[in-house]
Amino acid sequence: MTARVLVVDDILPNVKLLEAKLTSEYFDVLTATSGPDALDIVQREQPDIVLLDVMMPGMNGFEVCKRIKSEPTTVHIPVVMVTALDQASDRVAGLEAGADDFLTKPVQDLALFARVRSLVRLKVMMDELRNRETTGLSMGGTGAQEIDTKISPADTQILLIEEQQNVADRLIRHLSELATLTHLKGGDKIAERAREKNYDLVIASLTMTDTDGLRICSQFRTFDETRQIPVLVLVDEGDTKQLVRALEMGVNDYLIRPVDRLELLARVKTQLKRKRFADRLRENFHLSMRLATTDAVTGLYNRHYMTSHLDTLLRSARENNKPLSIAMLDIDHFKIINDTHGHAAGDEVLHEFSQRIARNVRGVDLAARYGGEEFVVIMPETELETSLTIAERLRATVADQIFAVETADKPLNVTVSIGLATLCDGIRTSAELLEKADEALYKAKHEGRNRMVVAA
Ligand code: GH3
Ligand code: MG
Ligand code: MG
Repeated sequence: MTARVLVVDDILPNVKLLEAKLTSEYFDVLTATSGPDALDIVQREQPDIVLLDVMMPGMNGFEVCKRIKSEPTTVHIPVVMVTALDQASDRVAGLEAGADDFLTKPVQDLALFARVRSLVRLKVMMDELRNRETTGLSMGGTGAQEIDTKISPADTQILLIEEQQNVADRLIRHLSELATLTHLKGGDKIAERAREKNYDLVIASLTMTDTDGLRICSQFRTFDETRQIPVLVLVDEGDTKQLVRALEMGVNDYLIRPVDRLELLARVKTQLKRKRFADRLRENFHLSMRLATTDAVTGLYNRHYMTSHLDTLLRSARENNKPLSIAMLDIDHFKIINDTHGHAAGDEVLHEFSQRIARNVRGVDLAARYGGEEFVVIMPETELETSLTIAERLRATVADQIFAVETADKPLNVTVSIGLATLCDGIRTSAELLEKADEALYKAKHEGRNRMVVAA
């Protein structure tokens, strides 16, 4: 992962030191030696993260941070305060100014890279979500809902794995304002059992005597259901060996014991936010997939999706020498329904019709709306014989039961005509197969409707 990092410090050697460290890890580094300079660069260059010295003459780090966070165009850029004095008061002031995390001078490599990576990941995710929601908006979506970053115990679950009861009690107390905690003292198959519950964060001790904390972390990365859960580990001061391994296996961040309350809160918040954005992105992705592939009135697949899918199925049927059949359906005298009972009644019929079709095709089949009142059902690996049975079932499910329509004064009799075609030697493209089915459908109409005809 590469990112643009702005390093701000009034003492040039400090700037140079951080610049060298970050450059060696392939980060792109920008530098500033005063508050006003920093603000200028932040506005102009929009870095991915700012490392901000607290003590600077003129405008100090807190003030710079406050300004970054009060500007709508820069509020999303993560800020890490670099404090010389390891003092709680600095941290409180930093948090109040809107800082996202802290680093203590002299800055250690592991801490530096862990913080920067973790916050940049969060920002990348937020940027992506903002982009997608903008795209959704321009495509006629309902618009970006405000992303809820308020974190509360009612909807936030943390799994804490810590052997020592007193340490666990303290952590639970500190985090009670943010989340509901489940505490485990270790044991087997923790990750496996955690699959059922959608945890937002795992905090795992790496200093347990009976349980291998690293193994638990790696297990959380093996299961699909738990892979996305952020993991924060607790390590002893100086235990770099374990920490390096943990970070290598994809642990998101760490805390050194004894855990400082403010640091704990800041890191936990970052991870929880990231999880929230990740969840949202996934939902968003599924939603846009659904919008792109389905028809809004009927809920069936749309024509575009159906034809591209049919191309794929056709190719694979040819390659594997498997049968493939399709049915083209057209509601009979639909225009009369519209003309007699109104367009809204017509829509209702379309909806109910689609539901009946969807209920009566097999899981492997694909039902799509092809046009106004025309539908296509694709039946993969299906001989003509079987497709006839399915098509007859579809015809009957429409004709045998009247349609209760709210916007019409009485229930309606609806029937459908069906044309069937199966893949054979003469057919090369999906267009040709659809044409065959359409010809058969035309014949079914001609022969009196409410029936099916197989393509010649
Ligand atoms: P046939 O038995 O020959 O298929 O007769 P038909 O009346 O069903 O066929 P025709 O193609 O003449 O008319 C189809 C009608 O379907 C015309 C069109 O206005 C209507 N229609 C198409 N899409 C929709 C829709 O989304 N909602 C409603 N209510 N009507 C639609
Ligand atoms: Mg029709
Ligand atoms: Mg028609």
